[in-house]
Parts: sequence; C-alpha cells; structure tokens
Amino acid sequence: VKKNGKNGHQFFSPVLDEQLLLKIELESDLRKAVQRQELELYYQPQFQTGSYSMIGIEALVRWRHPTKGLLSPGVFIPIAEETGLIYEIGTWTLHEACRQMKEWHLAGGPLIPVSVNLSSRQFHQSNLVAYIREILQETGLEPQYLELEITESMMMDAAVSAEILRELDEFGVKISLDDFGTGYSSLSYLKQFPIHKLKIDRSFISDITRNASDQAIVATIISMAKHLNMEVIAEGIETKGQLDFLTENSCQEIQGYYFSRPLPAQEVEAAFFTPYRL
Ligand code: C2E
Ligand code: CA
Ligand code: CA
Ligand code: CA
Repeated sequence: VKKNGKNGHQFFSPVLDEQLLLKIELESDLRKAVQRQELELYYQPQFQTGSYSMIGIEALVRWRHPTKGLLSPGVFIPIAEETGLIYEIGTWTLHEACRQMKEWHLAGGPLIPVSVNLSSRQFHQSNLVAYIREILQETGLEPQYLELEITESMMMDAAVSAEILRELDEFGVKISLDDFGTGYSSLSYLKQFPIHKLKIDRSFISDITRNASDQAIVATIISMAKHLNMEVIAEGIETKGQLDFLTENSCQEIQGYYFSRPLPAQEVEAAFFTPYRL
C-alpha cells in the first residue's frame, strides 16, 4: 500500500506489491550489509590486444545476501543511490579495491591500475577528492594506480564536473568514461576535461561482426580517441570474431567474458598472476 495524497491509499497489483516488498526488504538489509561484511569485490582483468598482457583490472561489487545468494550490483546499486547508502558502499568499495591492488603490488603481482565505478551521487559528493586522497594514503596505493569510471551523464553540469575532474587529474588519479556512446551529452567536453580513457559500451560490440552501423561507430570512437590522445578500451568482448574486428581496427585494450568473467580476488590470482611471483 502506498499513500496517495489526499485520496488516501492506492492499492498496487500483486506483482507490483511483491516488487515493492522486495525493495523494502533489500533496503533494510542493505543498511546492515557493510557492517556485516556481506559485500565482496569481483575483479575483471583487462588485456592488450596483440600481446594479451594484462593492463588493468575492474572492480565490480557483489552482495552476498544471507538468504538470497550472490546479488549483482544492478539489483542493489540503484537502491543504494536512492537511499544514500551509496556513500558508505562506495567508500568501502574504493577502500577495498585500493587495499587489494596494493597488496597485489607488494606481493609481486603486475603493476597495473584498478578501476572503480563511481555512482552519480558519489561523484558529486563535495568531499570526493579529499576522501579519495585519504583512502590512497591509508592503503598506500599510488594515485596513478587508481582509475575512476564515470559516465557521460554525470558531466551534464559541465562547470561542476570540470572542477572535480581537474582536481582528480592534478592529484594523479585517472578518469575513464564508462558506457561511452550511450549517454546523453555533448562531445565538446572531451577536449575540455582531463579524461584519460573511453570505454566503448558493450551494446556497440555485441553485434559488431554483422552490424555495419556498429562497425562504423566503433571504428570512429577508436579513431577519435587516438586523435584526442586518449586511451580506448572495448568492453563486453565475448567472441573471437569481435576480438578480430577490434584488433583489425587498432583498439588496443579489451575486456570481456571471452578472456575472463569477473572473478573473486583469489581466483584472479590463481588464473592470471601465475607468471608473477605471488
Ligand atoms: P559496468 O561498469 O558497465 O560493468 C560491466 C558489466 O558488464 C559488469 O556487470 C560485468 O560483469 C559485465 N560484463 C563484463 N564483460 C562482459 C561480457 O563479455 N558480456 C556480458 N554480457 N557482460 C559482461 P556487473 O558486475 O553486473 O555490473 C553491472 C553494473 O553495476 C556496472 O556496469 C556498474 O555500472 C555497476 N557497478 C558495479 N560495481 C559497482 C560499484 O562498485 N560501484 C558502483 N557505483 N557501480 C557499480
Ligand atoms: Ca565500469
Ligand atoms: Ca561499462
Ligand atoms: Ca553500465
């Protein structure tokens, strides 16, 4: 049941009611999730086309719910954003990703950066730069080994974003534009803002061996990134055909199930860090 202004109560259909109840339940559970250490980071490696050497790794949050099993961020990040719990979850995620990367560096793992996704509310948090600085200090990770993934829509307020990005850039943290090409924004910010990398969205990749428009869009993004002196990575590579197209079109970095799904830290070590002294 939901309050509906002066008219009193409005009744949802059973299906909607169920969804609403699940959301309320998850919201209340999510409040305790960080303290109860139910959040986990999975890591998905990123590779160079050609050499296949690992060039980075993206941290992706999971929630090991006590009764509902392993929940994906698509289920609980929107709730976290809505309720403001994203601040606590985001801080934990950043801290844990930096801590883990530093641990890997110290153990002789590859000297690669870790990418962390920022939500919109986090990005606009007034003390963002200060607390990132604090996390890097606490964990000992050097700023050049942290990459923050933001989306185009977060930069709608150009003046505000420019200031945040400039501070992060000065501090030495790298910025990637996630889901590039799907957002609602103008290209002019690409020349104004210190953005280091474009991540070509999976939606342009999935049908790329057949769809001429996707081929044109992806080839153009790669070429544009090169001319703007930015790095470019394609995400969601699942097949050899997709990899071949990207390699032929000089996309130098890739991420996707074809190489690896996101994995728990220990499995990443076992599968990918064996050539290193870990
Ligand atoms: P994203 O940042 O675009 O992350 C890529 C998503 O695509 C991940 O889903 C990943 O598991 C999936 N993926 C990677 N390679 C492939 C592939 O080859 N094929 C297919 N079909 N999928 C692939 P995931 O982990 O469920 O994350 C979903 C979204 O949740 C992320 O999209 C990101 O926007 C958000 N998210 C994840 N972790 C965090 C976090 O720590 N903080 C915030 N604010 N958002 C997060
Ligand atoms: Ca991402
Ligand atoms: Ca993405
Ligand atoms: Ca996404």
